[in-house]
Amino acid sequence: MTELAAPPVEQRTGVKRISHWIDGRSVAGESGRSSPVFNPATGKQTGALDLATEAEVDRAVQAAKQAFETWRTMSLAKRAELFFRIRELIHERREEVAKILTAEHGKVLSDALGEVTRGLEVIEFCCGLPTLLKSEYSEQASTGIDVYSIRQPLGVVAGITPFNFPAMVPMWMWAPAIATGNTFVLKPSEKDPSTSLWTAELLKEAGLPDGVFNVVMGDKVAVDAVLNHPDIAAVSFVGSTPIAKYVYETATSKGKRCQALGGAKNHMIVLPDADIDMAADAAVSAAYGSAGERCMAISQVVAVGNVAEPLIEAIKQRIPQVKVGDGMDPASEMGPLVTKEHRDRVASYIENAPGEGATVLVDGREGAPEDGFFLKPSLLDDVKPGMKAYEDEIFGPVLGVTRVDTYDEAVGLVNDNPYGNGTAIFTRDGGVAREFQFSVQAGMVGINVPVPVPVAYYSFGGWKASLFGDRHIYGPEGIDFYTRGKVVTSRWPDPATSKVDLGFPQTR
Ligand code: NAD
Repeated sequence: MTELAAPPVEQRTGVKRISHWIDGRSVAGESGRSSPVFNPATGKQTGALDLATEAEVDRAVQAAKQAFETWRTMSLAKRAELFFRIRELIHERREEVAKILTAEHGKVLSDALGEVTRGLEVIEFCCGLPTLLKSEYSEQASTGIDVYSIRQPLGVVAGITPFNFPAMVPMWMWAPAIATGNTFVLKPSEKDPSTSLWTAELLKEAGLPDGVFNVVMGDKVAVDAVLNHPDIAAVSFVGSTPIAKYVYETATSKGKRCQALGGAKNHMIVLPDADIDMAADAAVSAAYGSAGERCMAISQVVAVGNVAEPLIEAIKQRIPQVKVGDGMDPASEMGPLVTKEHRDRVASYIENAPGEGATVLVDGREGAPEDGFFLKPSLLDDVKPGMKAYEDEIFGPVLGVTRVDTYDEAVGLVNDNPYGNGTAIFTRDGGVAREFQFSVQAGMVGINVPVPVPVAYYSFGGWKASLFGDRHIYGPEGIDFYTRGKVVTSRWPDPATSKVDLGFPQTR
């Protein structure tokens, strides 16, 4: 009798194994350590993620290092052509990746598609790479001497990304990094890693040479291996502030270039002259979209003067209309949170709010679907500095309202906050809006726009504890970050005129 081989683990358990992508192929992890991946809408484990060792990270870096030698020599025209192909493929297959993303992150499909589309805009920007890499030339800087600048890639660069935008945030990094001639190692979030593997396969299909884009799955071990690796020239990070600070300090202490984007506490100021319905629509959309798991979500409304009562009333009217459910259901407008731990942590802010002196106007724990990691939209009033609900980045569907008497108090709150990612003002007064734009301490400002994520040809980044480093991400600053300048001074003199001159070179 022939013995039948046991079916693969994934067939037996329904849990798929998720591994690394190195040098153009899927590579099974060897550490023996793994991390569970869930479908947040059901609460069921769907994946087991291999967690990389230092040696596995090194393997990816060596593949990238080797690929760099030829990748950096590819002409700009060919690289641009490849980027157009990548753009077309992702656009054609965006629904496929949106489903993979929703199944692990939980956000609703329309939101997942929106994320892919905003990421695609960064790729479209990168299609113009020949123009982006144009440099300057000064003829006759001195007699018979020309001076010109060129920008060259750094080599192997790495990206470490958060769970909340598993497609878009990696695109913010790999697209400009690769377009400018670098090779790339991505360490995605361990909570929703499959989108990165989908991207790796698609890039290969588009014709990207093996080794140019690699993915290592992992936790702190992999992150530390990236930060300490001598062959990685630069690290881009997006995630929470404590880890961003750690990544920035460690990477720069090893001589690497680093941009580390952190957390946020985004305030939306509503002035008494604002259109109440418009402001309420904006607050509800920006607070509860993607279940509040956006670094540009509005988590705090600052109601100035007598706007508080009608504004709160208008927000309260809208909250019950938000359809909460499985992100795969086209009727759902808000999905679950990413993990049970995160859901419970977010719920604890509602639990503790009354003890801190805040008022729970809408409690999202009531009536939330029981399967999965759901929490419905919640609204807290009388939230003030000093309370945990005010100080912490909650990163869930909990909107706080702070009441103040004047515009100056409102802008003071934003400026005193340790974070400075995004902020918004709702008003019909152009003069006040102009003053706000001028004096507010934040990197991204919305005027009657609640989620002011810059378009792809500007750069994205916050101030204060929302960004460590001096370059914002994507757009022109992204191109700068992934390239370094070289200035060439050249002359073609008649050798007969040559002589020794120990004086300092003069231009006149
Ligand atoms: P996180 O900081 O927990 O994780 C981000 C990355 O760091 C992941 O890849 C994770 O594996 C790794 N990591 C986690 N703990 C680590 C440790 N101790 N040592 C080394 N590496 C570690 O963030 P998250 O929960 O995945 O994402 C949510 C956070 O990201 C929020 O704070 C949000 O504001 C922030 N975020 C910021 C932006 C921005 O542009 N500023 C954009 C998206 C998300």
